[in-house]
Amino acid sequence: MVDDYSHYKARFDSYNYQKLGNLKILTAVIKLLPEHLQTIQSHAESTYPEECCGLILGYVTEGVKTAVEVIPTANAWSSEADNFAENNTTHSTNRRYAIAPLVMLQVQKSARDRSLNIISIYHSHPNYPAVPSECDRSYAWTGYSYIIVSVQNGVAGEINSWTLDDNHQFQAETILALESGNSDYIKVSTNLN
Ligand SMILES: [Zn+2]
Repeated sequence: MVDDYSHYKARFDSYNYQKLGNLKILTAVIKLLPEHLQTIQSHAESTYPEECCGLILGYVTEGVKTAVEVIPTANAWSSEADNFAENNTTHSTNRRYAIAPLVMLQVQKSARDRSLNIISIYHSHPNYPAVPSECDRSYAWTGYSYIIVSVQNGVAGEINSWTLDDNHQFQAETILALESGNSDYIKVSTNLN
């Protein structure tokens, strides 16, 4: 017998309510350290004008995701794209990314050994805003934070995070990062004000 209520509560707890005036707005939060942001930005700049991608390990407490480690991975789309190039000319490498299933499994295992989980999948958008494409949405899985960093002319800029709702639509998630030399978290994402 499935305990429907506990399942519902677990999902409910994975969100934070942010109070805005009289409105209660459902928001999700992911916390990063400055070095995590640095790793994502450097990776995105180093693969420009191609997309980069990677995984973030961490844990979830009281609905807030906390990153522990950023793991840059190879973009497996490039090799696959060659196979599909002839009948699929609309997709170019710099608009697509994929993490090899084997890499996903290996990282998942090493995370479990450390009592961590894969909490986020990040990728870059070369010369494109930090908003998900239709392709990003259709390939996304529930539960992960999809962090997207925009790279304009080789320089990493805007960074946003997105999570799927029950209708498989992306909703904005707030990225909080520790200020260097300070113990306060500041909001670095711009998709939610
Ligand atoms: Zn994308």
